[in-house]
Amino acid sequence: MTDLEGFRAETRAWLEANCPAEMRQPMRDESDMCWGGRNPTFKNAAQKRWMEVMAERGWTVPDWPREYGGGGLSPAETKILKQEMARIGARNPLMSFGISMLGPALLKYGNESQKKRFLTEIARGEIRWCQGYSEPNAGSDLASLQTKCEDKGDHWLVNGQKVWTSYADKADWIFCLVRTDPQAPKHQGISFLLFDMTTPGVSTRPILLISGSSPFCETFFDDVKVPKDQLVGELNKGWDVAKYLLGHEREMISGMGLGGQGGALGEALKDSLADDPVLRAKVAEFDVDAIAFRAMSERFIDELKAGQAHPAQPSMMKYAGTELNKARHELVMAAGGSDALEWESERSRNGKAAREWLRTKANSIEGGTSEIQLGIIAKRILELPGA
Ligand SMILES: Cc1cc2nc3c(=O)[nH]c(=O)nc-3n(C[C@H](O)[C@H](O)[C@H](O)COP(=O)(O)OP(=O)(O)OC[C@H]3O[C@@H](n4cnc5c(N)ncnc54)[C@H](O)[C@@H]3O)c2cc1C
Repeated sequence: MTDLEGFRAETRAWLEANCPAEMRQPMRDESDMCWGGRNPTFKNAAQKRWMEVMAERGWTVPDWPREYGGGGLSPAETKILKQEMARIGARNPLMSFGISMLGPALLKYGNESQKKRFLTEIARGEIRWCQGYSEPNAGSDLASLQTKCEDKGDHWLVNGQKVWTSYADKADWIFCLVRTDPQAPKHQGISFLLFDMTTPGVSTRPILLISGSSPFCETFFDDVKVPKDQLVGELNKGWDVAKYLLGHEREMISGMGLGGQGGALGEALKDSLADDPVLRAKVAEFDVDAIAFRAMSERFIDELKAGQAHPAQPSMMKYAGTELNKARHELVMAAGGSDALEWESERSRNGKAAREWLRTKANSIEGGTSEIQLGIIAKRILELPGA
């Protein structure tokens, strides 16, 4: 047996012994996700146990170094772990912006004490983060951000406003872009700051969405004092950290194109398609695109782990994955007919299809819009003139 075959056998046995049966069911809605944090809420004992045993083994972040709470696995071992989890339908034990966004940026730009402190807490699910990038006048043109951060000698003083801050009202800490040099060209006066959401002067106001939920907030900073050692990377070089993190955010969002744990859409919708050859053809076309996306995604992850991915490749994946996910939900709605629009009833599981369909409309906005991704692809991958 090769080392990797041995690792697969061990992993399979360990997962069989440790993944609770309830954690092998597909997630039904957001309440099935475990976000950890300072005051975590668990849906049941199985969810808590699953997060804890995975964290104990470093497998909430299998490819992070062991000294920061990770599993220290190689890219090939990490892939095997993912395959073995998928084989039994095991849920992701921990959803976390710390894992998918901040962690990679800290691994590259954080100092040793920041890595030791924050990465370990993230890996154990002890800290929940939110992302303070967008402002009322800085979305696609993110580098126009105006949140002010002044050096007050023994601390930073932050004043300003963020918007669309996902789960700001539930997060323990924020990773935040602030302007530290208002005189410098806009990309050169930005820094990357971390602070606790319970710091005096931080407040949040949830924004109610068309889907009926409030997953994000306006976030206000009034004279927020932040310790000096919570700035990541160099002063005024936060744009580099921000862009690197965005690559990882886009990689994470592109995963929506994989369609969760479900199989082919044609299989899921087969009862509704019998009398509609046009819709059937569209679903077949979608399933072919989904297979192609899955293959492209696997190649991308392999290239990324081998350090061979083009830096703008996450934009390509994000664009393809989110447009695909939107197409999936359009087809689900088309197959469901007017019944799929039911909003509040037991039969529609409280409007599950309609609410999910509406939520996907945001996929091509969050993490940078599709138009912005196309601009990046045109300029940096295709090198089109004038892009
Ligand atoms: C579900 C969701 C969650 C989010 N979570 C967070 C979060 O946690 N933290 C955070 O900081 N932000 C978050 N955002 C904000 C998100 O990053 C911004 O909405 C996004 O970057 C677009 O910015 P904007 O809304 O200001 O739109 P604008 O930038 O005003 O864009 C409006 C329209 O103009 C188009 N446009 C703008 N510039 C160009 C251009 N140069 N070329 C072509 N078209 C252009 C855009 O594509 C878009 O269609 C979230 C957004 C959503 C929808």
